[in-house]
Amino acid sequence: MHNDIEGMKVLVVDDDPFVLKLLTSQLTQLGFRDIVTFERAPDALDLIEKESRSIGLIFSDLQMPDMDGIEFVRHLVGTGYTGGLLLVSGEDPRVIQSAQKLAKIRGLNVVGALRKPASATQLKEQLQGKPLDSAPASPAVQNYRFQASDLRRAINAGEIVNYYQPKVSLHSAALVGMEALVRWQHPHAGLVAAAQFIDLAEDSGLITGLTRVVLTSALHQARCWQDAGLPPLTVAVNLSTDSLATLDLPDFIERTANQAGVSLSRLILEITESRVMAEPMLALDVLTRLRLKRIALSIDDFGTGYSTLAQLRDLPFDELKLDSSFVHGAWREPPLRTILEATLGMARELGVQTVAEGVEDMQDWQFLRGSGCNLAQGYFIGRPMPAGEVEEWIASWERRRAFLTC
Ligand code: C2E
Ligand code: MG
Ligand code: MG
Repeated sequence: MHNDIEGMKVLVVDDDPFVLKLLTSQLTQLGFRDIVTFERAPDALDLIEKESRSIGLIFSDLQMPDMDGIEFVRHLVGTGYTGGLLLVSGEDPRVIQSAQKLAKIRGLNVVGALRKPASATQLKEQLQGKPLDSAPASPAVQNYRFQASDLRRAINAGEIVNYYQPKVSLHSAALVGMEALVRWQHPHAGLVAAAQFIDLAEDSGLITGLTRVVLTSALHQARCWQDAGLPPLTVAVNLSTDSLATLDLPDFIERTANQAGVSLSRLILEITESRVMAEPMLALDVLTRLRLKRIALSIDDFGTGYSTLAQLRDLPFDELKLDSSFVHGAWREPPLRTILEATLGMARELGVQTVAEGVEDMQDWQFLRGSGCNLAQGYFIGRPMPAGEVEEWIASWERRRAFLTC
């Protein structure tokens, strides 16, 4: 939990005075000293607008007569509030979950959600280990509007770098591979996350050039790990469906792997369909040729966007990555669990390997271990890191591994 609970200002917004009293007393027991309560969300907003920086945590009800929790969340975004938000509601868990998702999509630091009446223990659990200060992108990144010309220059200037995130076996916790995740080391904005420029790369026709850089450096990195005596690892690279219209892609990959001295069977291409495939026939041509070259194909973010059953039916995939929205918290959300279990069952029948993305805590890890899923990836195991930190991560993972498989 936050190490300065006593000094943290907490706001509680609920139209029911009894709930306000109860939460105040529970929060006091947990050590919070500066608690302000509001029966009306507009009044809370007045204070937040004046003091958004001094507030560390907000509890909000969903069902309120003057302004409901969804409207409150919408206004909260406008205030520039960066502290934590916890939704507390008596509504159906699925309604609470949708509200939570919406607040996250809006960029708020959602610490959790509680179903009323919540016990002090549940409240404590929700707050445990949660960073209450959000870590928004650096101001430079927030204010920077990247242009296609900047990105084109960056690709040529070597500003595109790979971070690597481990994939481990859920059964043995052994490291089996690394996924390359692209970053832009921008001269002014600092390290820029993939999500902030992949769309631009796709829209401006730069994605295939970018992918070539990522692939080349990932394959050379795989060779370095091989030479350093690491256990044989797979290396995964993300491929936008736009790149699947590039007919020479399979040959480019083969040449690059040969130059690096890495077997193509070590390579996994993770394909995300963020939009409808413009050229489905070209894509099928490229994907089938990649497969013939023994490159493994993975369907990324399964269950979202266009990553659907139709792809599994039509394309020769070897691996299915369950999107983190079906993974994190599935242990306590029966609808998520149902979707997750059904997907795993289907993948098993099809002989497709499964990877759970977004494994963020011990509960996720334990639950997935019993689910029959093959591999896991997520902050709980290791965050994406520069290649230079991988060996150190492996050493620390080896120490944790024994505890995670008993
Ligand atoms: P993805 O391939 O599904 O990668 C997983 C994303 O989730 C990564 O974000 C990763 O940092 C993040 N992540 C990892 N563990 C956790 C976790 O436990 N919890 C949560 N909430 N998130 C986690 P990142 O690196 O910002 O990449 C975002 C997306 O951008 C990727 O999603 C991928 O679709 C795309 N991308 C990344 N690199 C490339 C690339 O080289 N080429 C293309 N075309 N797309 C890329
Ligand atoms: Mg991926
Ligand atoms: Mg994904």
